[in-house]
Amino acid sequence: MKLSEIIMSRFNKTIKDADNKEIYQGLLELTHKLSEEKVKENGKKKIYYISAEFLIGKLLSNNLINLGIYDEVKNELSENGKNIAEIEEIEPEPSLGNGGLGRLAACFLDSMATLGLDGDGIGLNYHFGLFKQVFKNNLQTATPDPWIESEGWLIKTDKTYTVSFKGRKVTSRMYDINVTGYDNKTNKLHLFDIETIDESIVEEGIDFDKNEIEKNLTLFLYPDDSDDAGRKLRIFQQYFMVSNGAQLILEEVKAKGCNLYDLPDYAVIQINDTHPTMVIPELIRLLVAEGIEMDDAIDIVSRTCAYTNHTILAEALEKWPVSYMKAVVPQLMPIIEVLDDKVRRKFDDEKLYIIDRDERVHMAHIDIHYCFSVNGVAKLHTDILKETELNHFYKIYPEKFNNKTNGITFRRWLLHSNPELTELISELIGDGYKKDASELIKLKKFKDDKEVLEKLLNIKQENKTALKNYIYETQKIEIDDKSIFDIQIKRLHEYKRQQLNALYIINKYLEIKEGKKPETPITCIFGAKAAPAYVIAQDIIHLILCLQEIINNDPEVSPYLKVVMIENYNVTKAEKLIPACDISEQISLASKEASGTGNMKFMLNGAVTLGTEDGANVEIHQLVGDKNIYIFGELSDVVVKRYAEASYVAKDYYKKSKKLKAAVDFITSKKMLEVGSKEHLERLKNELINKDWFMTFPDFKSYVKTKDKAFEDYNQRHKWAKKMLINIANAGYFSSDRTISEYNKDIWKLK
Ligand SMILES: *Cc1c(COP(=O)(O)O)cnc(C)c1O
Repeated sequence: MKLSEIIMSRFNKTIKDADNKEIYQGLLELTHKLSEEKVKENGKKKIYYISAEFLIGKLLSNNLINLGIYDEVKNELSENGKNIAEIEEIEPEPSLGNGGLGRLAACFLDSMATLGLDGDGIGLNYHFGLFKQVFKNNLQTATPDPWIESEGWLIKTDKTYTVSFKGRKVTSRMYDINVTGYDNKTNKLHLFDIETIDESIVEEGIDFDKNEIEKNLTLFLYPDDSDDAGRKLRIFQQYFMVSNGAQLILEEVKAKGCNLYDLPDYAVIQINDTHPTMVIPELIRLLVAEGIEMDDAIDIVSRTCAYTNHTILAEALEKWPVSYMKAVVPQLMPIIEVLDDKVRRKFDDEKLYIIDRDERVHMAHIDIHYCFSVNGVAKLHTDILKETELNHFYKIYPEKFNNKTNGITFRRWLLHSNPELTELISELIGDGYKKDASELIKLKKFKDDKEVLEKLLNIKQENKTALKNYIYETQKIEIDDKSIFDIQIKRLHEYKRQQLNALYIINKYLEIKEGKKPETPITCIFGAKAAPAYVIAQDIIHLILCLQEIINNDPEVSPYLKVVMIENYNVTKAEKLIPACDISEQISLASKEASGTGNMKFMLNGAVTLGTEDGANVEIHQLVGDKNIYIFGELSDVVVKRYAEASYVAKDYYKKSKKLKAAVDFITSKKMLEVGSKEHLERLKNELINKDWFMTFPDFKSYVKTKDKAFEDYNQRHKWAKKMLINIANAGYFSSDRTISEYNKDIWKLK
């Protein structure tokens, strides 16, 4: 099957005469056909990865790479005067996730297919993914981000199920997206939907009537849960997802001849964070309905399900009021009560109960009691779970706890996003690393090879120039491609501490104003969406946008310092930003970032990390050594202790440090109020001085010092290139292929 033949038969045109849209549709057809040929099941047992989010990003190029035809197609197109990059632009990005957790699920699907495991994803077919971010008056506004095309990646199947909620039933429909591994098989991402969705109920921005389930159930990813209707809608979504998933799984295992008592031999279900937790009581309910005794059903399901914890932030651990559960899924409450009762009979400790004294259901507690495995996502995170956060559970189930340090797929985050670097690596060590990432370590032998280091610097420079052009084209901001590109891109959250980065920028601005100019100009780049209901996060975006306006327009400062806030950060933008980065900002408060995966993408692309000892930064540090990373800030045990003692007083730091005080006071200075909103800026300043819940002030001094040192070291170009090389050489550990083989060896045990 050739592209030219498809285009001829569909449009009666040659590739030369076809327009980009027609070529895109031709490529869709080609990819669908080739992927479908690679669908096969290998064995008895299958892993079902259930997740409320799959942040898959655009699929065309990745599919072409994994099918092994990317270069062939690219050449065929260019011989006919077409540019593959322009065709990639046509594809809308499916943003079916918020950030790291959803992106992880997408990387895992790629790795399962690449390793040849029978592993399907189960999720929801949100018609609008995460909102599209538009900046207006230095503020974030949100609009819907549609991605479903009449002809695209979604394949409508004939599978439909009935899902019952209190007082009503809805009919679902399953859509599939093919997930083709690198030089291997095709698995499926099953996305469930209802056919009565009504996109016309979307009002101003991303508001809509939250009460009409038949019209809105799969309209949006994680609708705003700042009010009761939004919170209930989430329960509707979660149950809809797991009820469909459970029906599909039971149907598939029965078709393979499973008698349901042997379910754990046929299926293993990985629960990605607590959002899919209701799959546990739902499966128990379905098994009981098939005539299995309750105790047996509980035992069977407990041997089938495994849980991944993604956070220790208390506000992110879901607790649903019993009254909501009764209003949405009354059929599950008797089962959840039995599960809770069993816990109460066995353990005399309130902290372990599923239903608490305030009549709330702790979803994570269901998972921990009734899954056979509980894993954290980086060494430090798992240690904190065992020693503090979930210590009371660890004491009763030590055998369940295990660590699986996150990873990323190198197909997307190296082969696709950085083809020049990919080519250099292949030239130096061959192609083996594409299937076995640990081979990257072979690069180490070039660490003093001037010619190789020079090539590395040149590739970085080309990527920086490309990013400079992209930023100019998309946002009309001019930056200097010879400046240092310092990048912080991730969801906007106080614990990730974009506000600390902003305080550094203010400090640097004030220094330049006083005549202290940096040797090499600096470009500070941010990209971040803030949850619409998260007020302080909106204020931090406002601060950064105001700084962008003031600094970039100040002729005294802008030759040395620029600020860019990338609009609508998503996977597509990440793919352009990461290869161009010099310094990767990973500055979360120690103990708060469970793992991070952005840090891994940057490392793989030759950026040097500036970070705290948090999440997977700890493991990056161990791999590359002190000389090839910039570490600052207080350690997690100090932070954990401070919270426990409630001993942190932000104001003490503010009063003591002149520099810090000047930076914080600048937030509401006359200059800022000329471009910004008093309400937002004052609220943010007060929050910092009176609360600073994520402790930016104690780390300010060491952050400034360490960052300045990194900027200084950057000027020794060969020494810097060596740091880049050592980072790339050690990035193999962070391949999601490694992570997935560990999941399979320790938890899933397929084949
Ligand atoms: C990798 C990725 C993330 C996660 O970034 P962190 O720095 O680990 O929080 C979020 N969003 C997108 C689009 C990503 O590609």
